[in-house]
Amino acid sequence: MTSISRRDFLKISSAALLGISASKFIPMQADEPYFTAPLIWNGSRKFKRMAFTYDDCYLLNKMQDLEVLLNEYPEFKVTFFPVGSKLLNLEEQDSGIWKRLVKKGHEIGYHTFDHVNLGVMSPATALMDYDKWYGALTQVLGTEYNVRFVRPPYDIISYTMDVLCQERGLVATLFSIGGGGEPDIVTRAIQKGKGGDIIQMHIRTQDYNSSLQVYPWLRENNWELVTMSQLYDDYLREQVNSADCDVDAGMSLTRTCVE
Ligand SMILES: [Zn+2]
Repeated sequence: MTSISRRDFLKISSAALLGISASKFIPMQADEPYFTAPLIWNGSRKFKRMAFTYDDCYLLNKMQDLEVLLNEYPEFKVTFFPVGSKLLNLEEQDSGIWKRLVKKGHEIGYHTFDHVNLGVMSPATALMDYDKWYGALTQVLGTEYNVRFVRPPYDIISYTMDVLCQERGLVATLFSIGGGGEPDIVTRAIQKGKGGDIIQMHIRTQDYNSSLQVYPWLRENNWELVTMSQLYDDYLREQVNSADCDVDAGMSLTRTCVE
């Protein structure tokens, strides 16, 4: 992954705010507090890349099936959003499973400890829940881990998630294609997908079958499957370049901010 230069990095917070607040936040509603933390539905449209995300991670055998499938596609990287109880439970049944997945370049994000709607938790409870989940993650990985993303259970955007994101430096991660369904229909939806799409799947039989069906097509058609981190970093870089550059559109197009 290309690293972001310090100069770009300094611009990221303001650029992200500009870029994201312009188009990515849900519209403000009278009965709902405005969401101020970073929240994304899709990444940069410039790259032929998608982020596949797998929520919940309840079923060990489907996790193992997916791991085998991913082994056949070592260039594909995905993101898991397991609940904390299953981080521990799957580790008990298959010691080292999470370490293996992280070692292969896949990413892990927060999805609460017990799949509770963050919107019904107080911010203080959500912070405790996150810390409990993070404790489970470091236990199964045996190391600290840089968690960057939260997928809210039931896909509910709430004030509590906003506070949590700000306190723990997380990006709220929704999706542009997902919700599950018959493999034929899901495959067709993904085949019509665009660069930057975030695909929501769950670790369940139907979504495993959809993955099995669509992965060969994605490879044949030169799609990259990337982690949420890569998708988000592409997105931030695009915001930096479009929101903050002195673009001289004369005879030769020069962007003075690009190194
Ligand atoms: Zn879930």
